Amino acid sequence: MERLRRILHRIDDRGYKAYKDIQGRYDFDDFELCIDHVQGDPFAAPSRVRVLVPARTARFPGSTHANRSRRIALEDYVTRAFAAAIRAHVAGGRGSGGSGSVLVDEPFQEILERSSCFMDGGDVEVRFRVGLPAAGRRVLGRAAETILFEEIPRVVHDSLRYDKLDAARLARHIDANDDQDALREIIAAKGLVAFIADGAVLPRRSGVDDRALLEREDARVVPFASPESMRVTFTLPHAGPVRGMGIPEGITLIVGGGFHGKSTLLRALERGVYNHIPGDGRELVVTRHDAVKIRSEDGRSIVGVDIRPFINNLPFGIDTGFFTSANASGSTSQAANIIEALEVGCRLLLIDEDTSATNFMIRDERMQALVEKGKEPITPFLDKVGLLHGDLGVSTVLVMGGSGDYFDTADRVVMMDAYRPIDVTGRVEAIVSGDETRRKMEGGDAFGDVTPRVPLRDSFDPSRGRREVKIDAKGLKSILFGRQAIDLSAVEQIVNISQTRAIGDMIHYYSERYARREFPLRVGLERVLEDLDREGMDILSPFKEGDYSMPRIYEIASAVNRMRSLRVRKQA
Ligand code: ADP
Ligand code: MG
Repeated sequence: MERLRRILHRIDDRGYKAYKDIQGRYDFDDFELCIDHVQGDPFAAPSRVRVLVPARTARFPGSTHANRSRRIALEDYVTRAFAAAIRAHVAGGRGSGGSGSVLVDEPFQEILERSSCFMDGGDVEVRFRVGLPAAGRRVLGRAAETILFEEIPRVVHDSLRYDKLDAARLARHIDANDDQDALREIIAAKGLVAFIADGAVLPRRSGVDDRALLEREDARVVPFASPESMRVTFTLPHAGPVRGMGIPEGITLIVGGGFHGKSTLLRALERGVYNHIPGDGRELVVTRHDAVKIRSEDGRSIVGVDIRPFINNLPFGIDTGFFTSANASGSTSQAANIIEALEVGCRLLLIDEDTSATNFMIRDERMQALVEKGKEPITPFLDKVGLLHGDLGVSTVLVMGGSGDYFDTADRVVMMDAYRPIDVTGRVEAIVSGDETRRKMEGGDAFGDVTPRVPLRDSFDPSRGRREVKIDAKGLKSILFGRQAIDLSAVEQIVNISQTRAIGDMIHYYSERYARREFPLRVGLERVLEDLDREGMDILSPFKEGDYSMPRIYEIASAVNRMRSLRVRKQA
């Protein structure tokens, strides 16, 4: 500790590079400070720092990290507490560039496994960044001293000890995560794909503010209430009995007039693959973990995907068994998005008409009469959705207010009426039986093959200029991978830039370990996730990275599939 102070005094007012001398480990009174990597100049990414608090000081009871679910929730909560303590104790703005800032990767509404905090036994480690202060490009030793010897110890003291935290809030946070994991297992065992608790608040404040919508004088918030016929009750380990709407496996339509809350419900289901913090409104909205939002995405790159279940006989004899396009259309992109999700194990498709290609979703009786089947390459989703469930066991929840043609294939129809769901399955059956459709089924008698692909090893070049590996998240929906940008703007279940960052580095890890051995994409990515589970996220980076959170296999595959350098072959 005093050694660090002496170095800071010595390098005060010297060139910024002199800061390199403070790299190392230092014993403070009740924690250890590790300055792992010092930034090259005041404008570069801030320096990497960790604090380690031993169990005897942190004193988190065993019950707060007794299983994986509780440990992840505790790490998440501690990260939030650390971020709040930074706001309370760090002045910031102590010079040029990022001088004086202290940053931790703060979670939002979801509780994710992350690398900002590790609870090991009872020992706590938090990883964060410090912008070491400078005047111009000269070391501001005194300011650094204030940050390292006053501000950070206060932050640590206030957030990394059990007795400094609100024990009741912490318990609620951990129990909520535990309950959501339990609920996800319960619904799977009951043959449901999703559960939405009565009382849940689904609408969000805005497109850029994911917290629960607030009630205003001119705008009521309608809490969710299940229709009686779909209501189920489950008993959770902590919350006890909870009631709500269970969506069964099979095909569920969400219908209703515009502005009645259809898309809001679907978006809640999309996010239900993740757990939410207490107070979010969606903390008892749970979707099976292998649910993927599907949308059209014209302009995307597609490489060697077998889209024959949906698209055949393109003009000029284009091969749809190994379809490649640098600029896909709405319908081909939506077809590829489905096949690629199935390729890596998706079992529930979530689709909204708002973001779908019309010609991919429907083809009505009159159009069948005019344009014969032989002249239409697209087999609409309408004719495949039943086979998807029958052949592959893949369910669909579909928002479709614009076409009644789906009535014939739906197992359940839920109508949103002023934000309240009504089970209209019986009424739909009456309509269907009273008025037999003259529309012809065009889907054949099988869904068709989902052909696994093997990415080729030279697809993944992470180098850029003099750097052998240059991979970075450029915002939530974009990864810079070597010289190429991977566009994830249509990948809707990425919720945090720290997931995006992890995805970029996971692709590199995957390419080194498994693409070189030419594993099928799914097998290779599953191996990556197993390695991460066993060895931790540190295998992804030469640094002790604090800014990762875990994505799902679907998001990692989405990124691989959108790489314009990707080359694949069909699995032999
Ligand atoms: P649809 O897809 O049926 O056209 P949306 O889901 O887009 O409708 O919802 C329309 C608007 O209503 C959105 O601004 C949304 O935030 C709001 N909204 C949705 N559900 C509720 C609710 N339960 N209470 C209050 N407002 C809601
Ligand atoms: Mg909508």
